Amino acid sequence: MFFTCKQVSNQLSKEDYEKLSPLDKFTLKFHVWICPICGKYNQQVMKFQDMARNFRLKQEEYLESDSPESPHLDEKAKKRLQDILDQDKKAS
Ligand SMILES: [Zn+2]
Repeated sequence: MFFTCKQVSNQLSKEDYEKLSPLDKFTLKFHVWICPICGKYNQQVMKFQDMARNFRLKQEEYLESDSPESPHLDEKAKKRLQDILDQDKKAS
């Protein structure tokens, strides 16, 4: 159930943490949030993944600007990014 620092780092270096199952994602986020060893570093990694994902969404939105779901996706992405930033503030 709980990840070690090594597992967290391996997972984050392999792929976007958003692709994990909801439980794994929560556990990983929780570890990064509270861990004094890998927390700071992996928060940066996760933020970078969020930004990359957000950028991809914006690109898709631009390419499919007639899709009614695009603004909705973009709002969700912004909310997720904001959540990460808020967590970072609380942690520091
Ligand atoms: Zn750790």
